[in-house]
Amino acid sequence: MADIESYDQFIDGEFVPSDGAERADVEFPYNGETWASVPLGTATDVDRAVDAARDAFERDDWAGLHPSERASLLRDVATVIDDHADELAELETRQNGKLIREMNGQMNSLGDWFRYYASQCETREGDTIPVESKDGEMFNYVVEEPYGVVGAITPWNSPLLLTTFKLAPALAAGCTFVHKPSTQTPVSALRLADLLHEEAGLPAGVYNVVTGGGSTVGDALVNHDGVDKASFTGSTGVGRHIGKSAGENLIPASLELGGKSPNIVFDDANLDNAINGVIKGIFAATGQTCLAGSRVFVHEDIADEFVERLTERARDIDLGDPRDPETEMGPVAFRDQWETDREYIQTALKEGATLRFGGHQPDDLPGECFLEPTILTDVENDMTVAQEEIFGPVASVLTFDDTDTLIERANDTDFGLAAGIWTEDFRKAHRVADALEAGTIWINEYRTLTYNSPFGGYKDSGLGRENGHEGLEEYLQTKSVWVDLAGEVDDPFTLG
Ligand code: NDP
Repeated sequence: MADIESYDQFIDGEFVPSDGAERADVEFPYNGETWASVPLGTATDVDRAVDAARDAFERDDWAGLHPSERASLLRDVATVIDDHADELAELETRQNGKLIREMNGQMNSLGDWFRYYASQCETREGDTIPVESKDGEMFNYVVEEPYGVVGAITPWNSPLLLTTFKLAPALAAGCTFVHKPSTQTPVSALRLADLLHEEAGLPAGVYNVVTGGGSTVGDALVNHDGVDKASFTGSTGVGRHIGKSAGENLIPASLELGGKSPNIVFDDANLDNAINGVIKGIFAATGQTCLAGSRVFVHEDIADEFVERLTERARDIDLGDPRDPETEMGPVAFRDQWETDREYIQTALKEGATLRFGGHQPDDLPGECFLEPTILTDVENDMTVAQEEIFGPVASVLTFDDTDTLIERANDTDFGLAAGIWTEDFRKAHRVADALEAGTIWINEYRTLTYNSPFGGYKDSGLGRENGHEGLEEYLQTKSVWVDLAGEVDDPFTLG
């Protein structure tokens, strides 16, 4: 067995031992081998990290920087990430078993987020407001200021990409950051923090990482008096809990939560593209993506042919070692998630669905986390499998014949993260896009996103947006400043 890499917390610009003695192992889900260990931190670790972030927020080498100087640091961060993209991609794959071909793409794109927000940092301006008070003899201007210390909590499925959605705009805004990554995937965040301080020159305390469990470190972070803004990506259940804590402490919270997205195939769709788009939506990343197109609505006139072809395509998917660039589907990230996926499949069968393909662990692969791409037919929208997020490679196929009813059914879910529409009729596509309740809609594509287009959920899929200028606004608060030009204050008893 390879040597186990042992990590400490990353606080105030350096690795420091945790206050606690407990540790968590990090396994490679392809074969179950343990390759790293991190501290299971404590509330005291959180205190130290928040203090370091507060100190950095108030120091001249961060808060005192001009926008162009902060932008220049962010560009240095981008360059360092570019230079280390291969190493970071390999860490990501070893933590959660996601394909190296996907992780290489993600890591090579992270720098773009920092470059984009560097430009926002330099070019963002305040407003002057044409107030009419005192016959126009008042001048009013609005400036934006950073919230302060951000407490960020992230999940395991795309660890550094989802961290970057928060870190790049938060730093551009001038905030400092304390990050609790998922216990399943803590190593890449620790390495990123180290690189950003050691090689890109971020001042100490600007990006701190405290590893440990959600109910200990995560809870201590969102409830910490020194945290001014919470930013969370994860399940809707935990998001609701974090939203309550943020409400209790009266701090703003950005919440990026789960999904149960419809991927809709009309009878006039280009079927080659639609089949690839459905595969992309639910079997890419082994279905472990918030925007998974897990409810596949297919027009009944093409349903038989579509399911036949989808099944053939699923049968050909190459499952295997995620480090091999030819592999198309890797393992599920850990055994508990695998068991959750299997339970959902069993429940679907009990509720009347048909297992058209997959559903099992292939016997020619190592470890205990592989699950075949799975296609369920005869699914009704009120079944558990069509209403709850599975977070695995399980496609539920539902049929429809009428567009109005389709829209009602597509919207009949608590979630509203994303949706796909496959049709050659652009008028219909736009009408349906208009009617769907989701934060991201793709027409004749699926699962594309980038730094300058906003991403986030309707309904129980979240609050707030990441990416684009909206992503920066999550970390800024506005201040309205009034200046008297008249030189006279008269009636003190009326508002004016
Ligand atoms: P969880 O909600 O289980 O966990 C997310 C993070 O929250 C982890 O770091 C976890 O810590 C932490 N956490 C758990 N309990 C608490 C608590 N009481 N207080 C504070 N923090 C806590 O999600 P998963 O990690 O399982 O990720 C999958 C989920 O993330 C799916 O629902 C998916 O849809 C969603 N997601 C949403 C995205 C979006 O942009 N909308 C993008 C990607 C994923 P730990 O696990 O270490 O204990």
